[in-house]
Amino acid sequence: MSALGWGLVGASAIAHEWVIDAIRAVPGNEVVGAFSTDPARGARYAADHRIPTAHGSLAALLADPGVGAVYVSTTNELHHPQVIAAARAGKHVLCEKPLALTVREAREMIDACAAAGVVLGTNHHLRQAATHRKIRELVAGGAIGDVRYAKVFHAGLLPAHLQGWRLRDPKTGPGAILDLTVHDADTLRHILGVEPVEVVALTQQAGMASGEIEDGAMTAIRFEGGVVAQTHDAFTVPFARTAIEVHGSAGSIYGRDVMTQRPIGEIVLRTARGEEVVGYEPENMYLRTVRAFAAAVRGEGQPGCTGEDGLRALATALAALESARTGRRVPVRFG
Ligand code: NDP
Repeated sequence: MSALGWGLVGASAIAHEWVIDAIRAVPGNEVVGAFSTDPARGARYAADHRIPTAHGSLAALLADPGVGAVYVSTTNELHHPQVIAAARAGKHVLCEKPLALTVREAREMIDACAAAGVVLGTNHHLRQAATHRKIRELVAGGAIGDVRYAKVFHAGLLPAHLQGWRLRDPKTGPGAILDLTVHDADTLRHILGVEPVEVVALTQQAGMASGEIEDGAMTAIRFEGGVVAQTHDAFTVPFARTAIEVHGSAGSIYGRDVMTQRPIGEIVLRTARGEEVVGYEPENMYLRTVRAFAAAVRGEGQPGCTGEDGLRALATALAALESARTGRRVPVRFG
């Protein structure tokens, strides 16, 4: 298997907490460089993470022939220009969510990667969770009959070390909807296997985020075929549990504590037979993401979550933001 050298675009918390380890855990993958806009912090970050080279510019990282793929985990407004620059330099790209700030930007990123012949993946990790994959399998296998409703409980407390740009910098694409609802949209598309059609949303400003930025939201999303889903996303409620429920004509599925980065949670299937706990094999979601991405780079299949998947989740989240702003129901537009 040929080696894949990764360059980190962004000296971020998410790379530190999950993705550097995930890259190193997949045989043949290594982190060879990191780019930060702050040379001193970038050098510290590289040293702390045993990354051989700290780059002071994106161009320098992209000029490194040892970099075959980049992982973009900067603030959201930078994803678009950085992904396009990486594609033009011939690098495969795994980009954080939200893929961009507008559908048009996301489409440009997809087109740039296609034109350059490089792989583009979006890091919606939750669809890689063993719990979510098992729930998808149950739904597709007819375990709950005709699916009618779904609910996502994704409210919690934003950790103190992440209470920065997400709460106060309008240019970065901040707020609970682009941070959390966008994940719900991807998770629901993955589990239900149908596309979102329209959205209504109400946001809340409970005092954690500043100005117009929402620190919580509730949305209702109608999907093709009629399924209606509800999502609750927030940064402000420390004791809320996360969950996903899918309700059908012949049963209901309860996924408890499953909207998380950790491979945990319980699945209960409730039907005429009673309640049964459904087993699954837990696995690190980020590792699965890197493994599928590296395989796609070798020409074996697609990333677990493609650029188009990222665009569709983004489009749903943008519809929620527009609905909250206008007080109207908003169609989800993919182009
Ligand atoms: P961070 O705030 O940790 O990092 C974002 C950027 O902020 C970095 O690229 C860095 O800029 C700068 N930065 C980081 N630390 C500092 C600091 N101490 N002082 C000044 N600037 C700093 O962001 P996150 O890791 O929380 O999020 C990054 C991206 O990843 C976002 O798009 C987010 O939505 C996504 N994300 C995805 C998750 C997932 O599970 N899929 C989970 C969490 C986030 P520079 O690179 O120039 O040094």
